[in-house]
Amino acid sequence: MSEFRRGATNNRWVIIAPERGCRPSDFEQRRIEYDAGPNACPFCAGNEDMTPSELYRDPAPDGRGWHVRVIPNKYPALMPYADSAPEPISRFFERRHGVGTHEVIIESPVHNHDIPDFCEEQMIRIVEAYSARFKVLMENLSFRYVLLFRNHGTEAGASLLHPHSQIIATSIVPQQVRSSLRIAKAYYERKERCLFCDLMLAELRNGERIVDENDDFVTWTPYDSRFPFEIVIYPRAHSHDFSTMADHQKVGLARTLILTTRRLRSLLGDVPYNLVIETTPSLTARPGSPGSRSILPHAYHWHIAVIPRLTRVAGFELGTGFYINPMPPEEAAKHLRDAAVQGIP
Ligand SMILES: [Zn+2]
Ligand SMILES: [Zn+2]
Repeated sequence: MSEFRRGATNNRWVIIAPERGCRPSDFEQRRIEYDAGPNACPFCAGNEDMTPSELYRDPAPDGRGWHVRVIPNKYPALMPYADSAPEPISRFFERRHGVGTHEVIIESPVHNHDIPDFCEEQMIRIVEAYSARFKVLMENLSFRYVLLFRNHGTEAGASLLHPHSQIIATSIVPQQVRSSLRIAKAYYERKERCLFCDLMLAELRNGERIVDENDDFVTWTPYDSRFPFEIVIYPRAHSHDFSTMADHQKVGLARTLILTTRRLRSLLGDVPYNLVIETTPSLTARPGSPGSRSILPHAYHWHIAVIPRLTRVAGFELGTGFYINPMPPEEAAKHLRDAAVQGIP
């Protein structure tokens, strides 16, 4: 029978509907073919003059090439500063300047690689670049929230095949993040414990949804998975801020990301997916809200969501906010654990 499930960290309801009888083979994907190829690709090695000037570079040892580059997005969603005085706030038609920044992390000079193809060293360099840019943007007082995300495949919103992630820093904390912070704070105020640490312990005790664990990270399919084969990755040690990872955790995360995406590829083929890093907003106190975020370092726990895009969001989801997922996360975890993975780092 299908069931409603509520997520402990977001109060969101999903509908798990297993009688739709889906198997992994129903979702198998073939190689993505939406690409013009390396010659027309602005992210390929040799085409550096097609992009805006670099913000970050991890150089190759020969001094000429590079392993990872970060550039401003040529078509940014937000601009770093306002070009006019602030608008008066209207009760019904509120608007603010679109202040923020939008960067692209080019994750490899090689055109058609994705995370499952990367070696551990390359993935560590990418995690270093993520962390370095997070740190810089979090220290900028104009920005309140920094989101790093990765779209792979057209169904996931990617317009270029070349491996890349994006970072958007915004001057407003998004509603979804506020809601999650509120739930985490309320839990901490009641129990003086981190909701996410407790959830991780409950998942480890239960075991049914665990996909992988190593010394530094635990991977599972959430009880309230909205999509088939949705995966979350949590650092085992409590930490609210992605950019404060120690070196051994960066290595652990690189291994975990490669392993997780290899499991998905082995099971489902070249699956379109979104990857999102969820971390705390800037904790600098603002006028009008002094200290309101001071418990967040204890109450919030950063994590990563990997969301394969195998089902479509349609009228029911838009109208209700509920998602219908035909693949119970307990079954998804079993399939992912059983997936044959070559060369686990
Ligand atoms: Zn390319
Ligand atoms: Zn925690």
